[in-house]
Amino acid sequence: MFQQHLRNSGAALSFVAAFTLFIGMSTATYADALSPDKIKSAISTAYDKYKDLDEGAVADYIPALARVDPKVYGIALVTVDGKVYTAGDLTTEVSIQSISKVFTMAKVMDESGTDAIHDNMGVDATGQPFNSIVAIEQYKGSEMNALVNPGAITATSMVKGKSYDEIWNKIIGYYNDFAGRKLSVLDDVYKSEAATNQRNQALAMLMYAYGHIKGDALQATDIYTRQCSVGVNAKDLAMMAATLANGGKNPVTGKQVAKTENVPEILAVMSTAGLYDDAGKWLYKTGLPAKSGVGGGIIAVSPGKFGIAVISPPVDAVGNSVRAQKAIADISNALGGNPYAVQPRYYYCTARLRVERAFF
Ligand code: GLU
Repeated sequence: MFQQHLRNSGAALSFVAAFTLFIGMSTATYADALSPDKIKSAISTAYDKYKDLDEGAVADYIPALARVDPKVYGIALVTVDGKVYTAGDLTTEVSIQSISKVFTMAKVMDESGTDAIHDNMGVDATGQPFNSIVAIEQYKGSEMNALVNPGAITATSMVKGKSYDEIWNKIIGYYNDFAGRKLSVLDDVYKSEAATNQRNQALAMLMYAYGHIKGDALQATDIYTRQCSVGVNAKDLAMMAATLANGGKNPVTGKQVAKTENVPEILAVMSTAGLYDDAGKWLYKTGLPAKSGVGGGIIAVSPGKFGIAVISPPVDAVGNSVRAQKAIADISNALGGNPYAVQPRYYYCTARLRVERAFF
């Protein structure tokens, strides 16, 4: 009886010791990687390193984008516990452009389920530019994804609503919840793109012809153009990314914006198709689901840790902001943001085995 008691309390003690050791070590590793000082230093190092970088050029196929100041450079990181870290320009707004595609896709998933996206336009990278007609023709619009223009306009056409206004208000309301503030359309960008988006209208009509867009394809193109013209600063974008990093719940307002169960699918499409034709190279270097826009913004998500965004308008040949790619990669890698970079469990297992052998 007494021996049994001793055995039980020994077991309980060893469990508590092992548990404390495990929690202590996990917390230490996590806290160390994401300590405020480390985050601040990673951000200011990257900011300084790329401040004077002179590569890339502002996109000019939309006339209003050619007028954007190439010197705008802002960095923001928001952790899943709602702490905000920044450097540089946080007030200038650029148009969200293709980054909007992530959130409209998420809205469709919320309303109609993840299969609706999978089954209608697919979830594979096309290997073609974001506005490719060849990519539609190859598989009649079915091997697409919601982050290239034909799939994105199709996703916009799938947002439920009886009128243009009802659909638009849903979309902008959803973006507002992600950003945690009321966003507005940059009217000059909208007008400029609406006057020159004949190629997108053609993509939409093809998607209609192949049965992926069911309703008014030109209305969907116009709403899509409006969603691309929403103005955002670096902090807005980081907050939107952090909401995804936090399972769809805005870490500052506390509002559950996207359904948590859809977040893995959202991040999967961002991983394979977020950075245009360079999505593979980006994933190779950072492991982060991300999305860029020709306005110069890039968002990236370190699941369960943080969302990060950089705005810097000069983009490279495929349309990704040069500074944003470099700064985000440096910061995330310095903070252990790559979800594929795991430490072996060997040490924990050895410690647990020793404790177990000593007591059992
Ligand atoms: N509104 C832009 C277009 O449709 C978005 C492109 C982008 O950011 O990749 O061309």
